[in-house]
Amino acid sequence: HELEAQNQIINHFLQQVKYKIVVMSGKGGVGKSTVATNLAVFLSNQGYQVGLLDVDVHGPSISGLLGLTGLRLNTIGNKIQPYPYDENLKVVSIQGLLDQPDAPLIWRGPVKIGIIRQFLSDVNWGTLDFLIIDSPPGTGDEPLTVAQTVTGCQAVIVTTPQEIALADVRKSIHFCQTVKMPILGIIENMSGFVCPTCGNMHEIFKSGGGKKTAADYNLTFLGQLPIDPGVVTAGDAGQSIDTLTSHTKEKMQHIVDQLIH
Ligand code: ADP
Repeated sequence: HELEAQNQIINHFLQQVKYKIVVMSGKGGVGKSTVATNLAVFLSNQGYQVGLLDVDVHGPSISGLLGLTGLRLNTIGNKIQPYPYDENLKVVSIQGLLDQPDAPLIWRGPVKIGIIRQFLSDVNWGTLDFLIIDSPPGTGDEPLTVAQTVTGCQAVIVTTPQEIALADVRKSIHFCQTVKMPILGIIENMSGFVCPTCGNMHEIFKSGGGKKTAADYNLTFLGQLPIDPGVVTAGDAGQSIDTLTSHTKEKMQHIVDQLIH
C-alpha cells in the first residue's frame, strides 16, 4: 500500500514535467555527468525550468561540477528542498544528504532503489519543463529504477568515439530496448581536439563511432563534443560552462536544439 501511495505521488509529479531525460553511458569517464550538467545549464539559460537529479549514488559528481561541493539539502516539513542553482535550475544529489562527502557508500540494491524513488516523491521540485537525470554508467540498479519508475522517461546515451566504448554503448542500447525506454539519441563526446597552437583538428580517440553506432541502430545522432581543456577547468572549478571554448558551446547548443525539436 505504501509503495502504491508513493507511486501515485511520483506519477502526479512526473505528469507535470514535460521532458524526462536520463543521461546514460556504457562506461565511466566518457563525460556523461559533464554532458548532463551542460544540458541542464544550457536549457535553464534558455529560460526553461530544469531539475537536475544525480542518481549516481556511488559517484555523485553533479554537485562538484556545479561548484556545490558543500551542498546540503534541507527539508521543510517532510519535503526535501532542491538546491536552487539559479532561478531556473534546481539540483538534487545524494551528495547533499551525506555527512561525509568522501566516505564511500556501501548500499545494496533495495536501498538505492528506495532513495531514487524518494528523490521523485519527496522533493519539492515545483513545475519543471525538463527533468535531467544523471545515471551511473552501465545497466545496473539505478538506470533500471529510473526506467521502471519514471514514466515517459527517454534516454540520451553518451559515448566516446573508440570501439571499446562503443561496445558498451551497444549494451546501453539493448538495455533501453529491453525496458522499452525510447532513446532520444547518441552524443559522441571527446570527439577530436582543435589544437590552439596549430588550429588543426586532431582525432585523439578517433571520431565518428557514435554516429556510426546511431546509424547501425537507426537512432538519432545528436552531435559531437570536442575534447576541450575548458571542460575540465570548468568541471574542476565547479564553474559549469564558463570556460568552454566557443566551438564547444556551439556544438552543445546544436545538441540542445536537436533535443528540443
Ligand atoms: P562520467 O560521468 O562519464 O564518468 P565525467 O562527466 O565525470 O564522466 O567526466 C570525466 C572527466 O572528463 C572530467 O574530468 C571531465 O571534466 C572530463 N571531460 C568530460 N568531457 C570532456 C571534454 N569534452 N573535453 C575534455 N574533458 C572532458
